[in-house]
Amino acid sequence: MPELPEVKVHAERLTADFVGRTLTGFRPITFTALKTFDPAPEAGVGAAVTSIGHRAKFLRIDTGDIGYLVHLMQGGRLKPDEKQSAKPRGGIARWLFDDGPALLLTESGTERKAGVWVYRDSPDELEPVARLGPDADTVSIDELAKICGANSKRLHGLLRTQAIIAGLGRRLSNEVCHRAKLSPFANASKLDRPDIESLHAAIVAAVDESVAFEREQDEMVKSKERPGNVHHRTGEPCPVCDDQIREVAYNRYTVNYCATCQTGGKVLADNTTSKFLK
Ligand SMILES: [Zn+2]
Repeated sequence: MPELPEVKVHAERLTADFVGRTLTGFRPITFTALKTFDPAPEAGVGAAVTSIGHRAKFLRIDTGDIGYLVHLMQGGRLKPDEKQSAKPRGGIARWLFDDGPALLLTESGTERKAGVWVYRDSPDELEPVARLGPDADTVSIDELAKICGANSKRLHGLLRTQAIIAGLGRRLSNEVCHRAKLSPFANASKLDRPDIESLHAAIVAAVDESVAFEREQDEMVKSKERPGNVHHRTGEPCPVCDDQIREVAYNRYTVNYCATCQTGGKVLADNTTSKFLK
């Protein structure tokens, strides 16, 4: 799934192509494309796109009148659409403009979870945004200390919980823990001030690195092509200390880490799941 850096740069690419153009129509292609009914998506017709940005992993397209919030989920993409075919492959919704290409939301796979929400003034009023924590790259050291202090979750789980801190997914959670030299299973509420400072620096550095990488790409690349030290690198040497990268595998994701860098050499096993699921 794209995380905050990919979505941020995706918005930058779309800004170049669509800001300033006048909207002439919005067409949902699937029944589940549109997640809200008021205001109507046509309320933006006749207005020019004023900005395209993001909130965490959501893209936002603002016109003078209303805005559209888009979630790409796992395989969604939002791309200029020259052809405007009647049944585009994986098509979810389409925005039409006075001249030049349309903007097409597609989703690969069979899940059909990507969608569009429409808002009047700010996406903050929408349910999926209202329940988000602050964007990970905007959190100060003091805020991060407060967030961690209030949550006795494992660090890797906390970083992935969008309601606590938004924008990081499985890949960046692995990379942030490794950069911070903290165990992914560390109890967040027990981190001390130097740990919090390392964690903050790691979030900023990991997001910055991914943003810089993404800006070099013509379009969003697959997760495994994105930069990193540990994610999806089980068995490879740690670029910091040369120990091998280890994993704790779950059904839906894998925690990757370096024992030498992060756990004082201790090999992690997840007793909470292995007891019940094996
Ligand atoms: Zn290492």
